[in-house]
Parts: sequence; C-alpha cells; structure tokens
Amino acid sequence: MYALVTGASRGIGKSITKSLLKEDFKVIGTARSSEFPKNFTQNDNFESLYVDLADPVAVKKTIKPIFDRDEVPNVLINNAGIFMESGFEKNDETWLQKWDKTMQVNLRAPALISKWALNRWVKEEEGYLINVSSRAAYRGDTQEYSAYAASKGGLVAFTKSVARDFGKKGISAYSIAPGFIKTDMAIDSIEVYGEEYLTQGMAFDEITSPDEVGELVAFLASGKVPHMTGSTFHINGGSYMI
Ligand code: NAP
Repeated sequence: MYALVTGASRGIGKSITKSLLKEDFKVIGTARSSEFPKNFTQNDNFESLYVDLADPVAVKKTIKPIFDRDEVPNVLINNAGIFMESGFEKNDETWLQKWDKTMQVNLRAPALISKWALNRWVKEEEGYLINVSSRAAYRGDTQEYSAYAASKGGLVAFTKSVARDFGKKGISAYSIAPGFIKTDMAIDSIEVYGEEYLTQGMAFDEITSPDEVGELVAFLASGKVPHMTGSTFHINGGSYMI
C-alpha cells in the first residue's frame, strides 16, 4: 500500500504517518515549512514534499504530478488544516480573507487533490480517500471559527459524494471527525482552559492522543472495511456520541 498524507510533519498527520510506516506502507508526507521527524526521513519508505496548500499554483505544480507517476499512491489522506480566528466584528475584507484562506487550505485544496487521485484510481480500480474533518462539522464552533466549521462540514459532504459515486469503481471514502486532540492546533485551548476543564464533558479525564487517530486511519487505509464507505468516524473521548 502507498499513501499520500498532507500535514505529515506534526500532530495528527505525524501520528498517521508513524502508524502507516509501522504497517509497511510507502508514504509521501507533505508539510508547509517545518522539518519531518528523523525517523521518517531516514526511512526508505518515506518521501517528503514541501507545499503550501494556501497557494493553488504550488499545489498544482507539486502534487498533481504525483498522480501522473507510474506508481501512484492508492491511499490519500487529506489531513493538513488550519484553524483561523475571525470574528464577525472584523471588517468584511479581513473577514473574507480569513474565510477564503480557510476554505482554500481546508476544503478547496483537499477536494482538488482528491479529484486528481480519483481520476487515476478509476483506471487502477482501487483507491481509499480519508479526509480529516472535525467535530466542528457536527456541533458547530464559536462564531470566530465559523469558517473552520463550514470548511469541515463541506469536507464531509464532499467525502460522501465521492463514496456514493465511486464505490462501484473500487474506491472508498471516509471522514474522520476528531474532538480535542493533543497537538499544536489545540495547545492554545489547553493552555487557556486547562486539561481538567476541557475534559469535563468527556468520558475520560485526558485529551485524546494523536496516536489513536493515527491507528484508526491506518486501519481504514488497510482496505479491510470498504463497505463502511461514506461513514464519518468520530474520535472525541466520548464528548458527544452519534
Ligand atoms: P497541527 O498540529 O497544527 O499540524 C498541522 C499540519 O498541517 C502540519 O504538518 C502543517 O505543516 C500542515 N499545514 C498547516 N497549514 C498548512 C498549509 N497552509 N499548507 C500545507 N500544510 C499545512 O494540526 P493537527 O491538530 O495535527 O490537525 C490535523 C487535522 O486535524 C486538521 O485538518 C485539523 O483541522 C484536524 N482537527 C484537529 C483537531 C485537534 O484538536 N487537534 C480537532 C479536530 C480536527 P507545517 O508543520 O509545515 O506547518
């Protein structure tokens, strides 16, 4: 198996990559600017790629050719994402700038990369698309993060459309909806509110480790449950259950 993982340098994407390499996957991991862990770059099964998903020209130049190679990844994990604050008190221009950047990184780029993968996978008659959404798609977020919630809701709907239309072509698509996961993205909330407060409504008294998400994604990427296509996998420490 062969996977492309966006945002593989840190947090959830790093854990996903660790789990996939452990299962002997070949992995192309992307990042915007930070270094990859040494145990990735020293692994012959790992290839690193730098691309800013906020830059559509760079996305096309860097990622599209991957799906024109002789051997292409049969698993795509759209994991990279941004969580930008923009309250309704901001002027329209500033608010829309943040809205547009959030949509570009969290929805537009993942959808376009998926399109490139799908157009190749229909020829190979196999492919697994895993999109990392968020609990925000299901329960909303505060108004400052409404663009984030909308982008993640869009990603779930996009994933369901792929699942519905490509199953008969050997392709499955899944969404992951994490709650609070202990990564850099959640660190501000953890520092401001503390782990005890954030876990009050949860079934556990610690915030979910990214490694657990990594294990879940590696299982879905194994191709063992194609008939779960279109499903969203909620991993939130029991903070809500659907
Ligand atoms: P993180 O710790 O902030 O890591 C983000 C990763 O994405 C990094 O590898 C980063 O690359 C990459 N990235 C960020 N902006 C990028 C851009 N413009 N272009 C290319 N790569 C970019 O985030 P995380 O917590 O692991 O989140 C991973 C996914 O899970 C996201 O889609 C997020 O929305 C979702 N999620 C997270 C939580 C949570 O509580 N952590 C909850 C729900 C959903 P660099 O290292 O180079 O910056």
